[in-house]
Amino acid sequence: MGVRVWAPREGRNEVSEDAVLQADSLQGGALWETLETEALACRGCSLHTRRQQVVFGVGSPASDWLIVGEAPGAEEDRRGEPFVGRAGQLLDAMLLAIGLDREQVYIANVLKCRPPGNRDPQPEEVATCSGYLDRQIDLIQPRMILAVGRFAAQHLLGSERSIGALRGQVWAYPRTGTALVVTYHPSYLLRKPVDKAKAWRDLCLARDAYQERVAGANVAS
Ligand code: URA
Repeated sequence: MGVRVWAPREGRNEVSEDAVLQADSLQGGALWETLETEALACRGCSLHTRRQQVVFGVGSPASDWLIVGEAPGAEEDRRGEPFVGRAGQLLDAMLLAIGLDREQVYIANVLKCRPPGNRDPQPEEVATCSGYLDRQIDLIQPRMILAVGRFAAQHLLGSERSIGALRGQVWAYPRTGTALVVTYHPSYLLRKPVDKAKAWRDLCLARDAYQERVAGANVAS
């Protein structure tokens, strides 16, 4: 009678790449849920007393693209979603112009709660809240960050330079080295449509830099 000595089947002990990716995405999904739950219950600064909703973000956390704005406005506070007012419609059109629709990207703000009267975010609010955005960036691991408006651009780049000085080139986001492009805030473009041509150049810059990076990353070394 032939007795077979047990031996692992070829490849049995090797964890497949698919299994690793699946485990990573399950873990990532759980971390994302924990983060969102934490943010939705946040009472870290006084903005929680006047908010209707925490505006955590919208879109696909698996996206290569992250769009970062300043803070929710009245309509966003009411609906619990970033960029849904007139500025949001313009942002959607800007993204569509480079072939991206709202569901294909992730959109978030530096602040998750609305500052009353749409005033500028205060340093203590940013200090309390920006950890949520940092953790969103760590989980999304985008390949392109589009900072819309002066506030988001200065915050992400840790710079006090004007938006005019920050737009027009591809930066490395200091925390992760991710490519980052700055453009005008759609609310500003609604007031000053003449600058839409510059915003279009920024979007093309971001699209081209993204495509170069993705093509570069797909070239076997
Ligand atoms: N402006 C922003 O910066 N974010 C929004 O979500 C809406 C308006």
